Amino acid sequence: MHSNHHLTFLHRLSGLAAFSVMLLGSVVLFGWANGLTALYQVSAGLPIMTPGAAVSFLFTGAALFLLQPEHSSRLRRWSGQGLALGGIVLGVVMLLSYWHLVDGLWLLDLASFRDSPQTGVAFILTCIGLFFLGLERPILISVAQWAAFISLMLLVTVFFGFAHQEDMFEVLTGAEGMALPTATAFALVGWGILLAKVEQGFFRIMASDASGGLVVQRVMFLMALLPPLLGWLPMLLVSGLTHTQVESLLASVMVLAIILIIIRLAYQLDTEERLREQVQQEANQQQSELAHMVNLNTMGEMASGIAHEINQPLAAVANYANACLRMIQSGEESQRLQEPLRAIQQQALRASEIIRRMRTLVRKQAPHKVKACLEQVIYEALHLTKTGGKKLNVPLLLELDDAVPDVSIDVIQIQQVIMNIVRNAIEAMQEIISQRRQVLVRSFVNKEGFVQVDISDTGPGMAAEFKQQVFDAFVTTKGNNGMGIGLSLCRSIIEAHGGRLWVESEPGQGATFSFTLPVN
Ligand code: ADP
Repeated sequence: MHSNHHLTFLHRLSGLAAFSVMLLGSVVLFGWANGLTALYQVSAGLPIMTPGAAVSFLFTGAALFLLQPEHSSRLRRWSGQGLALGGIVLGVVMLLSYWHLVDGLWLLDLASFRDSPQTGVAFILTCIGLFFLGLERPILISVAQWAAFISLMLLVTVFFGFAHQEDMFEVLTGAEGMALPTATAFALVGWGILLAKVEQGFFRIMASDASGGLVVQRVMFLMALLPPLLGWLPMLLVSGLTHTQVESLLASVMVLAIILIIIRLAYQLDTEERLREQVQQEANQQQSELAHMVNLNTMGEMASGIAHEINQPLAAVANYANACLRMIQSGEESQRLQEPLRAIQQQALRASEIIRRMRTLVRKQAPHKVKACLEQVIYEALHLTKTGGKKLNVPLLLELDDAVPDVSIDVIQIQQVIMNIVRNAIEAMQEIISQRRQVLVRSFVNKEGFVQVDISDTGPGMAAEFKQQVFDAFVTTKGNNGMGIGLSLCRSIIEAHGGRLWVESEPGQGATFSFTLPVN
C-alpha cells in the first residue's frame, strides 16, 4: 500500500539527486576553468576530482534525470540509456588513462581523465545500474537498486577515510583514493537510482506509507545522512576542532537523532494503530446500523402480518366481551363470567406480547455517542433522503448557522430523526401543488443555549388535537403505508440525547418540527 503523494515525494527526491549531481559536476568544471582549487579538491592534501570525472557526472546526472519518470516516452528512455552507455565508456577511458594504456584519443589529451581507479570502476558500475533502470524490468531494477545500495555502503568506508585521513582503498591498492566531491556525487546518484523506481524493485517497502515503510524510510534517511556528514564535517570544522573531536560530536548528534526519530516513529505508529482501531469500531457500528436498517425494512414488510396477528386477539377480545355483556343482560351467574373474562385477559396479553416483540426488533442497542459536526450530519441525512427513496421533486433549503458548535451524538440515530421528519414533510406535501412545496432546514443555537434544528414544510399542517398525538406510537394517517412509530422513535432518541422534540403547526399553514440537543 503506498499513497501517490508519498511516492511522488520519493520520485522528486530522485530528481533532486539528478540535478544536484549535474550541479556538482558543473561547479567542479567551473573550479577547474577558474583555478579555484577548493571546488575540486576541498582541502589541501586530499585527492582531486578531475575534469573528466566532472564531465562523467554531467552524463550520469542527465541519465538519471531522463530515466527517472514512471511513464516516459521511448525517446527519453533511449536518450537516458545512451547517456548511461556514454558514462560506462568514460569510466573505461578513466581506467585506461590511469594505467597509461591510452594517453590520448585523436586530438583529446586524456590527462584530465586520469582520476582514481576507484572512480573509474564506480562510474562503470553506476552507469550499468542506470542502464538497467531504463530496461523497466522489476528484476533488473532490483539489481540496479542493490548495486546502488552496496556502493552506498562501500562509500561509507571512503567517507570514514576522509575523517581519519586514511583511505582504505588507497592502503589496499596503493592507488590514489577517490576525491571528496566525487564520493558525494556517487552517494547522490546511488540514492537517486534507489528512489527512481522505488515502488518496483526490492526496496519498494520504502514507498509504503504503512508501518513497515515508515520504519525503513527513517532508517534509510539516517543512513543517507551519516556518511556524507562523516566526510564533510571534519573538513569544514577542522580549523577549530580536531578530526576526532568532530567525529565524537557527530556520533553524539547521530545517537540523539536516532533516539528522537525512534520516539517520533513510535508516536506515529501509535496514532496509526489507534486510528485503525477507530475505523474498525466505526465499521462494526455501521454493520450494526445496517442490521438495524434491515430490521426496519423487514418490519415494513412484516407490518401487515403483525397487524393481522394483532387483529386476531383483538377480535377475540371483542367477541368474549360481547358474550360477557350478553350473559350479564340475561342474568347469568357472575361465576360463569370467569371463563370468558380469563380468555379476554389471555388475548390481551397475547396482543401486548406481539407489540413487545415488535419493539425489541425496532429498538437499537446502546447509542454510540461521538463528537460530530451537526452541519455534516444534516448534509448526510438529506443526501440519504434524496438517494434513498423515490424522486422527490421538493426543493430542500438550508440555513445552517456556522456558530453551531460540535455536538456529542449518536450520528446514525440523529440522522434517522432528520430523515424521518423530512420524509414525513415530503409525504405530507404530496397533496399540494408542486410549485408551493418546500422544505427548510435551519440550525442555530437557541436562547437556552441548546443547539436547535427546525424542519419546516409548506404542507397541510395539522389540527391542534392531532398535534397532541403525533408523537404517540401507532398514530398514522397513512393507512397501510404508515406504521405511526417514526415520530415516537424520534422523540425517544432525542430525549435519550437530553433534548426535546416538538411540533408547531396550524392547519393549512405547514408544520415545523423542532428538536434540541445539549452542547455537551
Ligand atoms: P408514519 O409516517 O408511519 O405515519 P410517523 O410517526 O412518522 O409515522 O408520523 C405520524 C403521523 O404524523 C403521520 O401519519 C402524519 O399524519 C403526521 N405527520 C407527520 N409529519 C407531518 C407533517 N410534516 N405534516 C403533516 N402531518 C404530519
